[in-house]
Amino acid sequence: MRAFVPNYELTTPSSLAEALALLDREPGAWKPFAGGTDLMVLLEAGKLPHRNYVNIWGLKELRGIEATDSHITIGALTTYTDVQSHPVLQSEFPMLCQAASETGGLAIQNRGTLGGNIVNASPAADSPPALLAYDAEIELVSTGGSRWLPYRGFHTGYKQMLLAPNELLARIRMPRNTRNATHYYRKVGTRKAQAISKVCLAALAKLDNDQISDVRIALGSVAPVVVRCLQTEDALRGQKPDSATIKSACAMLAKEISPIDDIRSTADYRLQVAKNLLTDFLLTLRS
Ligand SMILES: Cc1cc2nc3c(=O)[nH]c(=O)nc-3n(C[C@H](O)[C@H](O)[C@H](O)COP(=O)(O)OP(=O)(O)OC[C@H]3O[C@@H](n4cnc5c(N)ncnc54)[C@H](O)[C@@H]3O)c2cc1C
Repeated sequence: MRAFVPNYELTTPSSLAEALALLDREPGAWKPFAGGTDLMVLLEAGKLPHRNYVNIWGLKELRGIEATDSHITIGALTTYTDVQSHPVLQSEFPMLCQAASETGGLAIQNRGTLGGNIVNASPAADSPPALLAYDAEIELVSTGGSRWLPYRGFHTGYKQMLLAPNELLARIRMPRNTRNATHYYRKVGTRKAQAISKVCLAALAKLDNDQISDVRIALGSVAPVVVRCLQTEDALRGQKPDSATIKSACAMLAKEISPIDDIRSTADYRLQVAKNLLTDFLLTLRS
């Protein structure tokens, strides 16, 4: 049942500094409200836990996409629509654009933000596997300043993360080192669109003399957090993508992930689909 709206407070700061000062004054009392696409679902279900929200949607400091020679840096409030229309993201980070195009419908893509997707911390979210495979880093800001950390390791357990109550996620950046790579992104859900992932794989690799190099593999919906499959990558590096390699990589992947049975799927199905997607990715390297 819908929550009683007058029980909630939403304040709109006029600058990032003002928002951070509020978060700092009463740590944990105020929560950011970005596009609201996750938060409004909780409100409608009567399950929105916190009462006080800081509306960050208008903070221009958290917007914009900037490309330098070495990196692309994306404001936390960047929407899925913004992601899909950026030329550098289209040409060098196609998995992120594909994730954005397969996230919800147009209304969600116009309003949902990358920062919200990360901090909402669903293991079934669609952009995190692409961000992990692209070695993203994230910037957290507070009144004390800014810190950058690798996105890998940010989520420490189901809905747990290294974000202090007085911090906002400000920007996401990715190194521009993907040229000549094969990119493979596949989300498997109940339907082709408007479905939550049962399994989602984002992977890229380069071939050097027919041998796999710079391979990166990330999976969603197969563990309490979205995972980067480092042991499977190790098993692949320096190998040719032949049948024996595919078999041993799938065996390693099965050790590395821990899918569960839940309302959307079963552990067995998720494991099999994860192996099938890995196989499909490795087969694309041969062509
Ligand atoms: C119909 C529907 C379909 C959807 N389909 C998909 C889908 O296919 N794939 C998918 O991955 N997701 C999907 N979602 C989920 C949602 O749209 C995304 O997770 C979206 O990116 C959330 O962004 P937001 O800005 O709306 O977050 P909000 O709802 O505003 O916030 C989400 C959480 O993040 C926190 N937060 C937001 N921004 C910041 C910040 N900058 N710093 C610190 N904390 C912050 C908030 O406090 C809150 O806890 C869907 C949602 C709906 C309603």
